[in-house]
Amino acid sequence: MSAPSVKTDREKPVVVINREWCKGCGICVFFCPKQVLELDEEGKARWARPDDCISCGLCELRCPDLAVELVEGGN
Ligand code: SF4
Ligand code: SF4
Repeated sequence: MSAPSVKTDREKPVVVINREWCKGCGICVFFCPKQVLELDEEGKARWARPDDCISCGLCELRCPDLAVELVEGGN
């Protein structure tokens, strides 16, 4: 296997979670259509599988505490 590039995240936004604001309700985890998010050991949301993220923005839209943000140009 010789993939020409592994920089798959380069052109898509990074999902940033504000851990101070996240209360661990799990709504973003539930609504993510690609099961990208999970709650970590401290009960905070984590962007666990970025390669699967389709940048749909549902996590940002659904978080009741505005703790999720899609940030362009993360690289
Ligand atoms: S929806 Fe918001 S507050 Fe709830 S777990 Fe996700 S990031 Fe945290
Ligand atoms: S942008 Fe969409 S696919 Fe990516 S983590 Fe958020 S809900 Fe999941």
